[in-house]
Amino acid sequence: MVRAGKMGHDMKLRPLGSSGIDVSPLGLGTVKIGRNQQVRYPQGFDIPDDARVSELLELALDLGINFIDTAPAYGSSEWRLGQLLPHARDWVIMTKVGEIFENGQSRFDFSARHTRQSVEHSLKQLRRDWVDVVLVHSDGNDMDIINNAEALETLERMKQEGLVRAFGMSTKTVEGGCWIVEHTDVVMATYNLENNTELPVIKLAQKLNKGVVVKKGLQSGHAASVEHAFRHVLMQPGVTSMIVGTISPDHMRANAEICKRVLAQTV
Ligand code: NAP
Repeated sequence: MVRAGKMGHDMKLRPLGSSGIDVSPLGLGTVKIGRNQQVRYPQGFDIPDDARVSELLELALDLGINFIDTAPAYGSSEWRLGQLLPHARDWVIMTKVGEIFENGQSRFDFSARHTRQSVEHSLKQLRRDWVDVVLVHSDGNDMDIINNAEALETLERMKQEGLVRAFGMSTKTVEGGCWIVEHTDVVMATYNLENNTELPVIKLAQKLNKGVVVKKGLQSGHAASVEHAFRHVLMQPGVTSMIVGTISPDHMRANAEICKRVLAQTV
């Protein structure tokens, strides 16, 4: 399937593993539209106003980006997407459960009760009857969450109920990532020029045809060469999509151009 953006930047959608969901190889991260405290970007920034967010989202659609990553822990991000997302049905939305960001601090709750309440809250914020992908937002103790918490089984139940189309975890360890690949639909893993630790997770996902979404591909803005960073991530077999957080239209245009160029060379 090809999404033809108005600006002519076609971006071929790819299957997110065997979930039945098709996503663009470049996705949009939305931390910066909802939160500017306790973030690890090179420079401080102001959260963009509604007009700038609307412009950014329109531009993403025009460039062929259909995949958006958000989370309750990203401040007002989910709520703003619910208010401002143009052509809401055209987007694949991925959100998370488990991390709560309040009064400038994160806390974690992976209980069944919190998981269900969190997804229900996300649906209200996003103004949706169901959400495409929900990931458990790991605090770093992946295996403890997997073995001892109820978040994953609650998401599986919510998938059966039709409230969630696919689920998985944003992991921080190889062991946790591999478990998630074996037992769920999608893993979100860190992969960039400085950090190849989670490569075994990506390779296993390729073998088992599961979705791999890469976070921090540009090292949260610290990558020495953006072009080189994109090439490294997108040319890695098994990677479905790279989520890049940007509030700059110029960066978004440049990133889409690089993506298109790199992918044209890999087919
Ligand atoms: P990232 O995508 O590696 O980097 C984002 C940073 O790169 C922003 O500060 C952005 O600044 C800058 N940038 C983007 N394009 C650029 C370009 N062409 N040239 C120069 N700088 C550029 O890192 P991230 O935000 O940490 O991660 C991306 C997304 O992944 C987040 O938005 C979030 O959705 C998700 N994430 C998830 C988790 C998790 O645990 N689940 C953790 C981290 C991130 P400008 O705004 O100025 O473009």
